[in-house]
Amino acid sequence: MVSAGALVDRYGRVATDLRVSLTDRCNLRCSYCMPPEGLPWLPSAEILTDDEVIRLVRIAVEQLGITEVRFTGGEPLLRPGLAKIVAAAAQLSPRPTLSVTTNGIGLERLAEPLRAAGLDRVNVSLDTLQPSRFERLAHRRRLPDVLAGLAAAASAGLNPVKLNAVLLRGINDDEAPQLLQFALTHGYELRFIEQMPLDAQHSWDRASMVTAEEILAALQAVFTLTPDPAVRGAAPAETWLVEGHRTPSGAPAKVGVIGSVTRPFCGACDRTRLTADGQVRNCLFAREESDLRGPMRSGATDEELADRWRAAMASKAAGHGIDDPSFLQPARPMSAIGG
Ligand code: SAM
Ligand code: SF4
Repeated sequence: MVSAGALVDRYGRVATDLRVSLTDRCNLRCSYCMPPEGLPWLPSAEILTDDEVIRLVRIAVEQLGITEVRFTGGEPLLRPGLAKIVAAAAQLSPRPTLSVTTNGIGLERLAEPLRAAGLDRVNVSLDTLQPSRFERLAHRRRLPDVLAGLAAAASAGLNPVKLNAVLLRGINDDEAPQLLQFALTHGYELRFIEQMPLDAQHSWDRASMVTAEEILAALQAVFTLTPDPAVRGAAPAETWLVEGHRTPSGAPAKVGVIGSVTRPFCGACDRTRLTADGQVRNCLFAREESDLRGPMRSGATDEELADRWRAAMASKAAGHGIDDPSFLQPARPMSAIGG
């Protein structure tokens, strides 16, 4: 049932999943995301304070029907107030599901406190298991920190720990089976994401992108995969059961592929996004944003902010149109929008 006041667009899609970017800063430089020298970061006066984030998340949950909140960035673990924000979101009613998408650096220290604050799950990005490739891809020697963060997340009970992997041609495109074997061995749930045109350098090239089809073929050369009978709903990942493997809880092990470009799922999209500087985006690829920070700092009421949010979502486009010749990459990169 659609809740009263929900975020509905003109195609009837209802947004119930909120992605909140807590910072545009990062301690890695993944080449599909940002250049090695980094980016001009947002001025701190423009970043929402912890209390402003908490207020907007409360409005989203209490007035707009949001049931799932994911904190992302940039690197959300760099935000000093993350545990405080999670704890406040966990007090909301109805209580939303709370998760973080992170590169894993710092999770070794933060997994327990975040779990105690009320975090339900983490998605950790892991594109390679080879230190030299990690350095080539992310421009930092931090693979051991990521692996330690994964182990800490699992022992803190942030299960199932999910892994996100992006494959880049000529760098790690041969590593799909090894990444899956690693995930199966440790009881993590792996999803591959097709590379999208969201990097600050605008270096994405459709022709050299590793496609969902290629990823599946590489996995099927080593594993027997059968389509997952579970209903997909609004989940972006298509999932397969990996024959002969089980999760630590005894369920059949799965692997997912998010074919954002070649198998778009815009028709079932249930997402709304809030950037670190308080802009609502109705799509990762939207070219327009709606400001909530300005009105909020000028004294707007909760109801006025909720109305602005609804209006921003009502105009959501039918699809991202990456394959359309008129497609234009959004002005802001993934790290500023919140992935
Ligand atoms: N820093 C955190 C991390 O890496 O998980 C959170 C933010 S990051 C932007 C969120 C996710 O987006 C990561 O899994 C990352 O691999 C993915 N990502 C970033 N740029 C991408 C791109 N151009 N295409 C596909 N996925 C991308
Ligand atoms: Fe940082 Fe995540 Fe972007 Fe990598 S993908 S540079 S970890 S924000």
